[in-house]
Amino acid sequence: MEILKTEILVVGAGGAGLRAAIEASDHGAQVAVLSKSVLGKAHTVMAEGGIAAALGNADPKDNWKVHFRDTMVEGQMIADWDMVSALVQEVPERIKELEAWGALFDRDENGKIAQRAFGAHTYKRTCYVGDRIGLEILHTLEDQVIARNIEVRDEAIATKIIGSNDKNNNKNKNRIAGVICVDLKRGEVFAIQAKAIILATGGAGRLYKITSNSWETAGYGYALAFDAGAQLQDMEMIQFHPTGMVYPQSAAGLLVTEAVRGEGGILLNSKGERFMEKYDKKRMELSARDIVARAVYNEIKEGRGTAHGGAWLDITHKGANYIIKKLPSMYDQFNTFAHVDIKKEKMEVAPTAHYTMGGVKTNINCETSVAGLFVAGEAATGVHGANRLGGNSLADILVFGRRAGINAAKYSSKTEYAEMDKDEISEELKRMDAPFKSNGVHPSEIKKAAQKIMWEHAGIMKTEHGLRQALEGIEKLKTMKAHADGSLQYNLTWVEAIQAAGMLLVCEAIVRSALERKESRGAHYRSDFPKQDDKSWMVNIICRNMKGKMKLEKKPVPQMPEELKRLLP
Ligand SMILES: Cc1cc2nc3c(=O)[nH]c(=O)nc-3n(C[C@H](O)[C@H](O)[C@H](O)COP(=O)(O)OP(=O)(O)OC[C@H]3O[C@@H](n4cnc5c(N)ncnc54)[C@H](O)[C@@H]3O)c2cc1C
Repeated sequence: MEILKTEILVVGAGGAGLRAAIEASDHGAQVAVLSKSVLGKAHTVMAEGGIAAALGNADPKDNWKVHFRDTMVEGQMIADWDMVSALVQEVPERIKELEAWGALFDRDENGKIAQRAFGAHTYKRTCYVGDRIGLEILHTLEDQVIARNIEVRDEAIATKIIGSNDKNNNKNKNRIAGVICVDLKRGEVFAIQAKAIILATGGAGRLYKITSNSWETAGYGYALAFDAGAQLQDMEMIQFHPTGMVYPQSAAGLLVTEAVRGEGGILLNSKGERFMEKYDKKRMELSARDIVARAVYNEIKEGRGTAHGGAWLDITHKGANYIIKKLPSMYDQFNTFAHVDIKKEKMEVAPTAHYTMGGVKTNINCETSVAGLFVAGEAATGVHGANRLGGNSLADILVFGRRAGINAAKYSSKTEYAEMDKDEISEELKRMDAPFKSNGVHPSEIKKAAQKIMWEHAGIMKTEHGLRQALEGIEKLKTMKAHADGSLQYNLTWVEAIQAAGMLLVCEAIVRSALERKESRGAHYRSDFPKQDDKSWMVNIICRNMKGKMKLEKKPVPQMPEELKRLLP
């Protein structure tokens, strides 16, 4: 087996991974990037509406303190104040840096970066490029990676993080030494030895039947980290975006960006009522995502939905020119997939699984409890608490991608390579070979069944009964063996087969955490415990790996210093 060596291995070429690679390289480290998707095509390109930063261009009253308050309040006070504080204070610098690297943001009439409204932000602070912000950010970062000659192995998948051989040495006890990977292009298994790994593998939207997420986001990164001994936190916090496409079936779940509501789009039920008046009279369509998503869900459930089981989203009153200028991708998306002209017709929308607020637990330096393992972006947790504000994820991937790069470079400059544990390697090779020898089912059967369970029982409304059913279903799926045949080259059936156990582990973490939290908070809604209970549940739920078994633990949210407390309402 080929064994490559690099000081820092970045797993994932989305915004967080590429930003981390750039910074680690600028700090003098030798860096390589591994990515399941082709360079430039990671999930980040799908981001549409914009990136939140308190530049104060649209409203001079805006500053990081208001952004801090909005983020903590909408995260229902369980986000990590330390990380949020870094996020909101550092993101304006990251925007300027992107501009210096060539990103072209839309401008206002004074030539400054334009900023639009997004739900639950006090001021207009979302910087945008029409409705294609993700593409602009990712391609700008990609140029910087190429300019630095950073090695990128794309269409290659990390299947396991390997620990150190020398576990008797206290220093190496809980430390990473490398990864096992598959190169899909060449159809080869290989290993990469690294002093530090930055995991930037994105979220887990694809664990749900209806999702806005790209094919890459089945949450395998969480399983990799958990398996290596890291902790998962807030896994019950899955965000359902209020507006995904519902029709045609093949496009169900595709995102209809919040920018539509930010630019004045209104929500109507089948009776033509602007129903947000009932749910949040003050903020209306620009209320927090969890509130709008539950409002749409409720209208549909109570019989006021459209023919295809959605609500109407209408922006026609803004006029054709405005729509084409501000929402070109939305115009194309509806025209191509649904033959709907959004300049003249209403869009049909319903909630879609969108973002994983939970993830691998890190500190503000992106360090995990495993030495040498750093995590950034949607793969990590801490910044968004119980509910992510729109635009804050792109802020997160730039701020914490950079922080991961700096800290991994510092760590690797003081660390020697550890030898990879040979037993772990041979076990992994056996595991990878197993689907070819089993006469089990096609792995898509396992995946589809898990997605259905998650959508029906661990979705926008949860109950004890439903969650128990979900857990039972997942346990059953765990006993099924997946089968694959053919060669290793572009064998996505085999990839699904070897990732099935990891995917089920992440489903388990979501369901167990949701069962544990007996209240409703932000995106986590339990209809059997519909109230938020600050007396008992100002905690983060942590999943630990205790010799292969998942153990849950409640940890009180860290106390905030007085000067930050004063910023809150
Ligand atoms: C349709 C849509 C619109 C959005 N719009 C906005 C918006 O306007 N504003 C905002 O702030 N946020 C938005 N978001 C959210 C935001 O885009 C994502 O949260 C963010 O881009 C995640 O970036 P990331 O770098 O953490 O992960 P990703 O971009 O998901 O990248 C993950 C990378 O890891 C790779 N990978 C995964 N597993 C492995 C493995 N085992 N081995 C090797 N590589 C692996 C993937 O191939 C990929 O390269 C949107 C999301 C969606 C779905």
